[in-house]
Amino acid sequence: MHKDNIDTAMLAEAGAWRSRDLAVLWHPCTQMAEHPDTLPLIPIRRGRGVWLEGVDGRQYLDAVSSWWTNLFGHGEPRIAAAIARQANELEHVIFAGFSHEPALQLAEKLLALAPPGLARVFYADNGSAAVEVALKMSFHSFLNRGDARRKKFVALSNGYHGETLGALSMADIPLYRRVYAPLLLEPLFAPSPDAYESEAGESAEACALRRADQLAAIFAQHDGEICALILEPLVQCAGGMRMHHPAYLRRAREICNAHGAHLIADEIAVGFGRTGTMFACEQAAVTPDFLCLSKGLTGGFLPMSAVLTTAAVYEAFLDESRDRAFLHSHSYTGNPLGCAAALASLAIFESEPVLERNRSTALRMAALATPLREHPHVAEVRQTGMILAIELVADKRSRSAYPAGERRGLRAYRRALEDGVVLRPLGDILYWMPPYCIDEGALQHLARATLAAVQEATG
Ligand SMILES: *Cc1c(COP(=O)(O)O)cnc(C)c1O
Repeated sequence: MHKDNIDTAMLAEAGAWRSRDLAVLWHPCTQMAEHPDTLPLIPIRRGRGVWLEGVDGRQYLDAVSSWWTNLFGHGEPRIAAAIARQANELEHVIFAGFSHEPALQLAEKLLALAPPGLARVFYADNGSAAVEVALKMSFHSFLNRGDARRKKFVALSNGYHGETLGALSMADIPLYRRVYAPLLLEPLFAPSPDAYESEAGESAEACALRRADQLAAIFAQHDGEICALILEPLVQCAGGMRMHHPAYLRRAREICNAHGAHLIADEIAVGFGRTGTMFACEQAAVTPDFLCLSKGLTGGFLPMSAVLTTAAVYEAFLDESRDRAFLHSHSYTGNPLGCAAALASLAIFESEPVLERNRSTALRMAALATPLREHPHVAEVRQTGMILAIELVADKRSRSAYPAGERRGLRAYRRALEDGVVLRPLGDILYWMPPYCIDEGALQHLARATLAAVQEATG
C-alpha cells in the first residue's frame, strides 16, 4: 500500500476514536469543553521506552513520564513479564487476615531501602490514599497515647498532596483547592522554602533557613496541638517544580522533634531516584515518621502506594480494643500484581547502576538546557536530579509572570506536540521529567522541541 494511504487510514482511525472518546469519557484535570478545539486529544496505541505511539501513527516523546509515574520506559519487558507471571498465580486476595509473598517481599525491600528507622509498611492504592493514611495514622497514634489535643496539621504554601478531600486539604495550590475550600480541613500553612522566592543575594540555603525559622514560630505558637508537618522533600512538583535546599528538611525534622510532632515526607513524586538519590530525604540525612510512596513505586505500571512508618507509631495501635486499631482499608490493599510490578522495578535498581546512570543523564539535561537558560523570557532553569524546570516570564529581570489568561504554557504544549514531544506545562513552567532510559538522541530532540516551544510561547 502507498504510504499516504496508510497515513490517511490511521488518521481516520484516530478521528473515529476521538469522537467515541468525547461521547463517553471524562478526562482528569481537563476542561472538557476545550476538547477538541483548544486541546487536541491524542489516542495512544502502545508505548515503548520513552516513546508513545499514537493511533494516528505518530510518535510522541513522553517527557513527563506520564504524570511522573514511569521510571524505566513504557512497556519495560521485565516489569510486564512479572505482572503476567503474578496474574497467573494470584491476581488478588483480601489483605485483612490474609497475606502473600509479593506483599511481604516488597515490604522487606522497601524498609531495607528507606532511610533508617522505618519499620512498618501499610499499603494503599494511589498517592492520595497514602496521604490520607499518613494523616489519619498520625492523629490516631497521638489519640491512642492519650494525647487528644493534637488535631492540627502543618503544610507548606505551594504544596500538593493529591485530590481526595483530606489530601487536597493539605494542598495550597488555588487551582485545585479554591473551589472545594468550604469542604476542607484547614491546616496551618508555613511559607515554602522555595529557592525561587529567595531575596536578592540570598542563597538557597539561607532562604531555606529563614523559612524554617518561620516554621518554628508556627510550631511554638501551637505547641502541643500539631500532629504532623507534611511536605514534599526537595521539589514541590505540582506547584511548578519549585525546589529547595535540603537544609530545610534537617531543620523541619528538628522542629518536629522539639515539639513531639510527626514529619510526613510525601515522596510520591520524588521517590525512586527522581532527585538523584533513591529517596529525597537521604539528601538531608533525615528519617520521616511517615514516608508516602506511589507513582514510580510500580515503575509506572499499576496504581499502588505504600506508607512506611516507625515502630513507635505502630506500637501506639497495639491494644485489646478495636477502637485503637487502624481500621482504614482499601479493597485492593496489597494487590499482588502491583507488588509484583514494584518488585520487578526494584530489581532493576539492584541489577543496574540506575542512580549512577541518571547522574550522567542529568548532566546532559543540564548541558542541553543551556540555550533555554539564556532565553530572554526564561527566568530560571532549575534542576534537581532528573527533574529540570524552565520558568517562563514576561520580564527576565523583574521575573514578572505573564498574565495567566495568555496561557503561554498551553501554546508551548501545542507547539511541542507538533514536534512529537509531550511537555505538559504547569502554568508557564515547562519541565523535563523523562523516563530514566532516555538516550542522547531523544534528549537532543527534547531540547530542540522545548526551545521551539519556548520561542513560540513567548514570541
Ligand atoms: C501525584 C501526587 C500525589 C497524589 O497521587 P495520586 O496517585 O495522583 O493520588 C500526592 N502527592 C504528591 C507529591 C504528588 O505528586
